[in-house]
Amino acid sequence: MSSRHPGIGMTSQRTRLRMVERLRSQGIRDETVLAVMGEVPRHIFVDEALASRAYEDISLPLGFGQSISSPHTVARMTELARAGQPLRKILEIGTGCGYQTAILAKLAKQVYSMERIAALIRKARKNLREAGIANAHLRHGDGQVGMPEVAPFDAIIMTAAATQAPGALLEQLNVGGRMVLPMASNNDQHLCVIERTDKGYIERRMDPVKFVPLLPGVG
Ligand code: SAH
Repeated sequence: MSSRHPGIGMTSQRTRLRMVERLRSQGIRDETVLAVMGEVPRHIFVDEALASRAYEDISLPLGFGQSISSPHTVARMTELARAGQPLRKILEIGTGCGYQTAILAKLAKQVYSMERIAALIRKARKNLREAGIANAHLRHGDGQVGMPEVAPFDAIIMTAAATQAPGALLEQLNVGGRMVLPMASNNDQHLCVIERTDKGYIERRMDPVKFVPLLPGVG
């Protein structure tokens, strides 16, 4: 287990299983997602001073004014992105500490993740290496443009709130693929699932959430 967090490794498996039970009681149904949430050592991804709170259902500060989504939000977005189907290639916008990236990497063949703050890319790379994740590819840049050269994606998860889904990202979805994002309107945010069909896009409004805003350019 992690040498950065002596003592936590021994108890983290048990604590994670309790977290999984809580996620189940909070309504997460996808057993594949629950299994992966039980595997990834979340304490590796949070600052050392906060490691003992890594398995509580709270969002935690990440530095640079950003925050790590709560386990429930990560599980819920992943469940919505999967819709019960296997995923091959996923794009994530807003890498942050890399925890959601790690969850996605356990479920898909390849995960691509973009982050506008260079220092967070470095932090996430280190965390993912420590967690033994090798199929996540991180890029420093403005996620609004996506990665057209790697597209199409089976799912796109955006972990920062916007007032509309960036058009360039919707174009990078496979037909049958889904984009999951926090949509902001009038001081209010909801998770939104946008599915690409052969005829166009279908949008569904889901749970209320609270995310930091999507910002333009690189930091
Ligand atoms: N999934 C992350 C969430 C981090 S918070 C985690 O659990 O750690 C949202 C992240 O989105 C921040 O790191 C922020 O810097 C990033 N972000 C905001 N706007 C962005 C943009 N246009 N392109 C890429 N990343 C962006």
